[in-house]
Amino acid sequence: MASSSNPDDVEALVRSDDPEHPANHICTLCAKFYSLGWVTGTGGGTSIKHGDKIWIAPSGVQKELMKPTDMFVMDFKTKEYIRRPETHKPSACTPLFYAAFTRGAGCCIHTHSQWAVLVTLLVERDFGSDACFEIEEIEQIKGIPKGRGKTGNLGYYDRLIIPIIENTAREEDLTGSLEEAMERWPDAYAVLVRRHGIYVWGDNVHKAKTQCESIDYILQLAVEMKKLGLPWAK
Ligand SMILES: [Zn+2]
Repeated sequence: MASSSNPDDVEALVRSDDPEHPANHICTLCAKFYSLGWVTGTGGGTSIKHGDKIWIAPSGVQKELMKPTDMFVMDFKTKEYIRRPETHKPSACTPLFYAAFTRGAGCCIHTHSQWAVLVTLLVERDFGSDACFEIEEIEQIKGIPKGRGKTGNLGYYDRLIIPIIENTAREEDLTGSLEEAMERWPDAYAVLVRRHGIYVWGDNVHKAKTQCESIDYILQLAVEMKKLGLPWAK
């Protein structure tokens, strides 16, 4: 708690008429993600970095019913909470979101999408526990950027590769393996978590959202292709 801060200034961090203010935007995004089945039963979450601050949805709340005043706000440099609602606990996803922000992301989305979970099981069964999810020659791959610092998006003939990490009993314990995957696969904008879901990030909110949508579409398609006996790559 930033006890030295003026309480009015602190509350101003979550009160705005601008629908694209991070505190408002997280609420509208999570309501949309709930309707997609990505954040059911309080699972999943979203965080936005704006300037030197991070807005984070709290733990254990119904994601479609959140209010801007439910948001935690963290100082990016000091990692201290500038604002924390008294009735909520900070999200266990916070160190994972932070890992994406240290690599230039402006928004990170965590979903418990069933397609993501199923793809991690299919990859393990058919390619082994060290394998990534790999797919090519699907039009929607063009919705994913080539990599950080690279210009443009993947092309139709490029291969989309998403690393997979093993789940842990506590969400925050995923941080080390998520960071390792980010280092090993520096072009990735997403990491799957076995039997759990996916983390997707982007340079800004718009990119994170559209990339998350494109990837979820591809993951759903991949599950259906597997059912039909169709290969993901040649
Ligand atoms: Zn989770």
